[in-house]
Amino acid sequence: MSEPAIDRQRLSINQIVKSQLDVAADLIGLDESMRLLLRMPFRSVSVEVPVRMDDGRLEVFRGYRIQHNGARGPTKGGVRYHPEADEEEVLGLATTMTWKTALLDIPFGGAKGGIQVDARALSQRELEGVTRQFTRRIALLLGPYRDIPAPDMNTNQQVMAWMLDEYSAKYGYTPAAVTGKPIALGGSLGREEATARGALFIMRDYSRDTGVPLKGGRVVIQGFGNVGAHLGLFLYEEGAKVIAVSDAEGGLHNKNGLDMPALFQHAYKEHKSVWDFDGGDHITNEELLDMPCEWLIPAALGSVITKEKHAKTLDCKVIVEAANSPTTPIADKELEARGIQVLPDFLVNAGGVVVSYFEWTQNLQQEPWTLEQVNRSLRNKMTQAYDIVRHMAEERGVPWRTAALAIALERVAEAEALRGGR
Ligand code: NAD
Repeated sequence: MSEPAIDRQRLSINQIVKSQLDVAADLIGLDESMRLLLRMPFRSVSVEVPVRMDDGRLEVFRGYRIQHNGARGPTKGGVRYHPEADEEEVLGLATTMTWKTALLDIPFGGAKGGIQVDARALSQRELEGVTRQFTRRIALLLGPYRDIPAPDMNTNQQVMAWMLDEYSAKYGYTPAAVTGKPIALGGSLGREEATARGALFIMRDYSRDTGVPLKGGRVVIQGFGNVGAHLGLFLYEEGAKVIAVSDAEGGLHNKNGLDMPALFQHAYKEHKSVWDFDGGDHITNEELLDMPCEWLIPAALGSVITKEKHAKTLDCKVIVEAANSPTTPIADKELEARGIQVLPDFLVNAGGVVVSYFEWTQNLQQEPWTLEQVNRSLRNKMTQAYDIVRHMAEERGVPWRTAALAIALERVAEAEALRGGR
């Protein structure tokens, strides 16, 4: 089997994803021509995003939309606003979307978008300007049967509403062109918390099968945005003890468990930092990752667990990768040697794209689902994926990530081969 690529503190998401691909491709004996095809994106577009700032200056940001593979359906993937969202990062994330949609067996390919901008420094008017300009420049690539954006880091329902408005101004009202929209514009019930709910289903199944406790189990979460905050709340309701959480400002620790409903209200609803919450001791993000616990949940950035940092020192039973690519390939090896289970990102955090798929079908059929129907269908999808990954990992004696990727690769390669044309 190929050795993973070199590990360093800021290994790019694309380097991580590429190195993982080779390991899984070896497992299923994927031929070289298919590997070549899947390493490169189908289409990669870079655009200027000029915006008149509140002080009258013109700023020009760089934006990307990368469609990695569409053999199984229209490409699908979020849009991220972050200073580090460069072409390399967006490509890695687009590739991950191809594996995620294939593993969950939903009829989409993989794409991702990004704008290199510090969204927190923008006013609401500037944020709208950035979104509208970006959408105008990539609109010709989009469409319900072509490529469908959704929210990701620092983008939300409002950003999706502006994207839909721009797209519809050009092509006519098309709710299925964007997912993660507000309910009033055709969004789905349960979409906002879907990624966290999907991760909860995976954790429940894993807890049932291995005995790692959810009830009374200690949980540590890095990142307290859409995914981290909802998952923290769900786990608290499940009887778990969330002993530490953090955001970009820093972290908070309480060995008896943090008051999650109050913290959710403070940090998620009122947009304040967890750092300012009264109810725990201050810790750094670095200290947080090494905190003894059963479940460690990175839910912020990529490459936070590396060979040099945390792989040797973190002290949990399971890493639940809610974020995309939080663990580098060499850190993965170290964790495997230490007997620490890693539940991979494109299984754990797939709930968002699954409910995006439900939203798309509701829009196409013009028939809204009930919340109960959404959550039941989400549970079925997550559990099916969990079962096949677990089965493959046990049967072939490989880490869950390799098993999950091998399943996804086989499905994408089969669709590619059937469509032919080369
Ligand atoms: P978000 O923008 O809502 O929240 C991100 C959180 O991470 C914030 O609390 C922020 O303060 C924190 N953060 C940022 N930099 C940090 C740092 N250096 N250290 C610690 N915390 C930091 O984003 P989100 O939607 O919750 O996404 C989080 C992760 O989950 C991302 O990796 C994203 O790609 C992944 N993901 C999200 C979804 C979704 O539906 N939202 C779906 C799949 C995967």
